[in-house]
Amino acid sequence: MAAQRINGTEIAQSIRDEAKTQIQSRLANQGTRPGLDVILIGDNPASKSYVGHKERACLEVGINSTVHRLKNDVTKQELLNLIDQLNQQEHTHGILLQLPLPEHLQPQDFLEKISPEKDVDGFHPYNMGKLILREPGLRPCTPLGIMTLLKRLPLNITGLHAVIIGASNIVGRPMAMELLLAKCTVTVCHRFTSSLAAHVKQADILISATGKPNIIQSDWIKPGAIVIDVGFSKLSNGTIIGDIDFETAKLRAGWITPVPGGVGPMTVATLMHNTVQAANTQSPCPTIIND
Ligand code: NAD
Repeated sequence: MAAQRINGTEIAQSIRDEAKTQIQSRLANQGTRPGLDVILIGDNPASKSYVGHKERACLEVGINSTVHRLKNDVTKQELLNLIDQLNQQEHTHGILLQLPLPEHLQPQDFLEKISPEKDVDGFHPYNMGKLILREPGLRPCTPLGIMTLLKRLPLNITGLHAVIIGASNIVGRPMAMELLLAKCTVTVCHRFTSSLAAHVKQADILISATGKPNIIQSDWIKPGAIVIDVGFSKLSNGTIIGDIDFETAKLRAGWITPVPGGVGPMTVATLMHNTVQAANTQSPCPTIIND
């Protein structure tokens, strides 16, 4: 039987709707909206497109968003000054530095300068540390969005074997921590892993985040597995594809995300969720006391 399709677009809409409701109640109680400041450097078309999605989502849910568009040759000091200014600014609750940066700038020099309470991408070492220590905090959007997808399935994932392909700071590593928190047994594979097929064949939950189309052969997939494709690659004809061939993989998997329409919308919706969370932590709505 063909796998059930996990509809990320639909689930992301429900997360944005929840954010919108929370923002309306914040507006009614204290008259302010959450504010998100996005820093976009240079003219990388993919980055411009991602920032466009984020701006549209902010508009839909009612977050005040500002995009700071900087030239490709911005200096380290200029970028640090902007982050400093946004850290101080009261109406900025979330700061997002769109990656990748131009070659002369190292992401870590800036990510750790963002105030941890405004770090809506969850990439600050403080927030990463909180995730590792199982403490509440702002968590990276893509792995957290994937956990939301998994929680919406009518399945108990406790004790399942999750295999993650990719070990980057923004997807693979925090994904491993999320799945450990969810009581899965976790294997992380990367470009130096030998016998990739043998690992994939054992996966009850397979999460692929490499950006290498067709890296996973569909006949490696364990029958009935939950398959989450994070990969996002654009072919020369403009088609968007993931790491896994959806049409053949769905004949073996139990559940599967499409690309596009799977993980991507969840990342943006989770950013909205995180921005509301950051705003509520920095300036909580006053409790209404009836006496
Ligand atoms: P990255 O390049 O930082 O990391 C890729 C990872 O894949 C590395 O850990 C590398 O070791 C591993 N890898 C590469 N070749 C491999 C191989 N042959 N076998 C096993 N592992 C291999 O990329 P990233 O930033 O983590 O993103 C990965 C993919 O996910 C990209 O396609 C990106 O566009 C996509 N992505 C999508 C979203 C979304 O919201 N949909 C968000 C983030 C990233």
